[in-house]
Amino acid sequence: MAIATINPTTGETVKTFEPLTDAAIETKLGLAQTAFKQYQRLPFEQRSIWMQKAADILERDREIYAKMMTLEMGKTLKSAIAEVEKCALVCRYYAKNAAQFMADVPASTDASSSFVRYQPLGVILAVMPWNFPFWQVFRFAAPTLMAGNVGLLKHASNVPQCALKIEEIFTEAGFPEGVFQTLLVGSDKVGKIVADDRVKAATLTGSEPAGESLAAQAGKNLKKVVLELGGSDPFIVMSSADLPAALSTAVTSRMLNSGQTCVAAKRFILAEEIAEEFIAGFVEKFEQLKVGDPMLPETDIGPLATPAILKELENQVQACIASGAKLLTGGRALSEKAGNFYLPTILTDIPLDAAARQQEFFGPVALVFRVANIDEAIELANSTSFGLAATAWTTVSSECDRFISELEAGAVFINGLVKSDPRLPFGGIKRSGYGRELSIQGIHEFVNIKTVWVK
Ligand code: NAP
Repeated sequence: MAIATINPTTGETVKTFEPLTDAAIETKLGLAQTAFKQYQRLPFEQRSIWMQKAADILERDREIYAKMMTLEMGKTLKSAIAEVEKCALVCRYYAKNAAQFMADVPASTDASSSFVRYQPLGVILAVMPWNFPFWQVFRFAAPTLMAGNVGLLKHASNVPQCALKIEEIFTEAGFPEGVFQTLLVGSDKVGKIVADDRVKAATLTGSEPAGESLAAQAGKNLKKVVLELGGSDPFIVMSSADLPAALSTAVTSRMLNSGQTCVAAKRFILAEEIAEEFIAGFVEKFEQLKVGDPMLPETDIGPLATPAILKELENQVQACIASGAKLLTGGRALSEKAGNFYLPTILTDIPLDAAARQQEFFGPVALVFRVANIDEAIELANSTSFGLAATAWTTVSSECDRFISELEAGAVFINGLVKSDPRLPFGGIKRSGYGRELSIQGIHEFVNIKTVWVK
C-alpha cells in the first residue's frame, strides 16, 4: 500500500511519501535505544510537564489537526475536533496519575521489606489504524511515555501527515529526541522491526489478519503484544427499555465515525415486544442522516476512508441480501458523488447460515435481529467470534445482572453508549484481541513488574 494522503471526499491524491529506507529505520531504532537510556531515569514530574505541554499544543492547534484527519480519512470535522480534545484529555490524565500508577506496591511476606516495582521496558512499537488517527496513537503514547518507555509509531499508510504531526507535537512539547518517532514504513517492514532486539514489545490496533501477523512475529521473538482488533458489538434492547433514549443512542453508536468504529454497535438485538416500533424509528432516523462533505458542520456521515473499504462493504451488503436478508433502507454507494460515500443501511431477517452474522461491517450498516427473550438475546449476542464490547438496555435489575455476567465482551455498558474513557480499561476478548489500554491497566502493559525481596 502506497504511503499517501488521498482525499476520500474527492479521490484526489494530495501528497505521496517515500517509505523509509532500511538505513533510515536503523538510525531511528538506534536513536530510540539511546533515548531510552536517559529517558527512563527522568522523574515523573519532568515527563508530566512535557505531557501537559503536549495537551496544550493539541488544544491550541485543534483545528489544524482536525482538518488533517478529515482530509486524510474523511471523518467529519466536528468529530475530528472532539477527537483532538480527547487526546489532550488522555495526556492530562496520565500526566496527573502516572506517578501513582507506577508507585511501589508493598507486600507483606517473610522479608524485612518486599514490594512490587514497575519499571519501563524500553522501545515499544505501535502499529496503528487510520480510523481515529490521533486518538489511537495518543491512547498508546500517553501511558507509554509516562511510564518511561519510548515509542515508535508505524501508522496506517493512508494517514502519513497525521503521523508526522503527532511526532512534531511530542517534539515541540519538549520530549527528548528519539522518545517518540514516527516511522513512515509499509506493513511489510513491521516483522523485521518487531524482531529487532532493541524493540521490547508491540501493540497493534487494526484487523484480525494484521493482529495475527504481528502476534506471530512477536511470538517467534518472545515479545509481549497488546492487540486491539475488530468487533461486532451487540446492542440489546429489552421491552422495559427507555425506547427513545435507546433509539437515539443506537443511531449515534452505529454512525460514529461514519460507521468505522471498532466499538460501534453493529448488531441490534431487539425484544419482540418493541421490535416494530424500534425498527420504524431506526429507519426514519437513518434516512434523516446527512451524507456529504465532512468539512461541513451539517454533515453526519462523511466518506469511507478508502475505495477498498467501500468496495468491501458493498460486497458484504450484497452477499447478505443474496443470502436472504431483507434491506430496509440504503444498500448502495452514492455513485453519483465522487468519493467513497455509502448510504446508511439497515438489514434484517438475516438467515442463520449467512456469513454476515460472523462478520464485522466497517461502515454505516446495521444488522437487526428479533428475539423472544433474554436467553435468546444473550445467546445471539455471544454467537460471534468477537468480544470487544456490548450494550444492553433494560430497567429490570435481574436482566441487568445477567447481561453483566453473561455477555462475552471486554466491556458491558448498560443503558448507555459504549465509548472509551481514560479512566476505564479498554480492550477485548476472543478474536477482538488481548491486553488493555487506558486506566491503570493500560500503563501496566509495557512494564517489568519487578518483585523485590529484602532481608
Ligand atoms: P489494518 O489493515 O489491520 O491496518 C491497521 C494497521 O496495521 C496499519 O498500520 C496497517 O498498515 C498495519 N498492518 C496491516 N497489515 C499488517 C500486517 N500483516 N502486519 C503488520 N501490520 C499490518 O486495519 P484497518 O482495516 O485499516 O482498520 C480497521 C480495523 O481496525 C477494524 O477491524 C477495526 O475494528 C479495528 N479497530 C480496532 C480498534 C480497537 O481498539 N479494538 C480500534 C480501531 C480499529 P498499512 O496501513 O500500511 O497497511
